[in-house]
Amino acid sequence: MTEIESRRGTGTEGESERERVDLRSDTVTAPSDEMREAAAGAPVGDDVYGEDPSVNDLEATATDVLGTEAALYLPSGTMANQTAARVHTERGQEAIVEAESHVVRYENAGFAQHSGLQLRPIDAGEKGVPSAAAVAAAYVADDLHRPGTGLLCLENTHNAKGGLVATPGEIAAAAEAAHERGVPVHLDGARLANAAVAADEPLAAFAEPVDSVSLCLSKGLGAPVGTVLAGSEAFVERARGVRKLLGGGLRQAGLIAAPARLALTENVERLADDHANAERLAAGLDALDGLRAPTPETNIVLVDVADAAFDAETFVERCADVGVLAGAMDAETVRFCTHLDVDRAGVETARSRVADVV
Ligand SMILES: *Cc1c(COP(=O)(O)O)cnc(C)c1O
Repeated sequence: MTEIESRRGTGTEGESERERVDLRSDTVTAPSDEMREAAAGAPVGDDVYGEDPSVNDLEATATDVLGTEAALYLPSGTMANQTAARVHTERGQEAIVEAESHVVRYENAGFAQHSGLQLRPIDAGEKGVPSAAAVAAAYVADDLHRPGTGLLCLENTHNAKGGLVATPGEIAAAAEAAHERGVPVHLDGARLANAAVAADEPLAAFAEPVDSVSLCLSKGLGAPVGTVLAGSEAFVERARGVRKLLGGGLRQAGLIAAPARLALTENVERLADDHANAERLAAGLDALDGLRAPTPETNIVLVDVADAAFDAETFVERCADVGVLAGAMDAETVRFCTHLDVDRAGVETARSRVADVV
């Protein structure tokens, strides 16, 4: 075992712990040895002065891959979404958001807290991306009584809908409806790389119709830390200021940007393996009594436990007892998320242990 390997560990101690199959999220992925080596050897500087070569390198790579004018490295996807909203809007405006999107469910009402926005949540139906007509219907023009729409926020893949993919055409249709009304569009692309691989389209095709796009490097792509936020030069310049305001101005961030760059250059295509594993897992779970698991489009398996003997929380506890970690989305839905640290055999282990629980 090299010194790096011995330090890497699994994040857990003890024999039985090590055998856990952790499918709670693709954020649990540990950095590879190559990433650790990249971190150790990264040239660094003070990124608040724009002088960290490894951060600059990552931002240039992200700009290339997403086909935008510029990109910015941030500590998290949440900060990227919050930064984008703050740049695009004025206080007191409305943001059109999908009712079950991440910015609504999991960001502590950040649009309200950081940007003074009122949300206009719309149900975008099965797909999770609103049609042009849905955007038009949700749009509000400002007048004496009404705040006016300041932002359309899209999400791809859609987490709560089970990692569903919106095509570049669907993104473009929604974005065009917003643009026609003078409304800027942010795409929360935390798992956009999964969408790109599933749709067999370049990442840039999804970024092209929108004004800003975020992409998490620390989920399925396996980086230890960080998200990139991309858009025009003018957008990114303002986003840099908001990032500083939110406390996200980092100094020798090259230590995390260097491995994050590897996530972007090395780990996109392999997401297809995670998607295949998710499909196998869903098929295996769907075959069990009381469980329903539709075929996933990407790496998120949603299991409906409404007809099982227990509710989602209890199901998750029983799974944990046999060393399979998942998460409850709501009272009747459990989420299993495949990723690069669980291979085909791991997924099969998970399936057979869950079968014992059921
Ligand atoms: C994970 C996620 C985020 C936020 O990322 P963090 O890095 O955890 O803050 C934003 N949007 C979606 C859709 C996500 O899945």
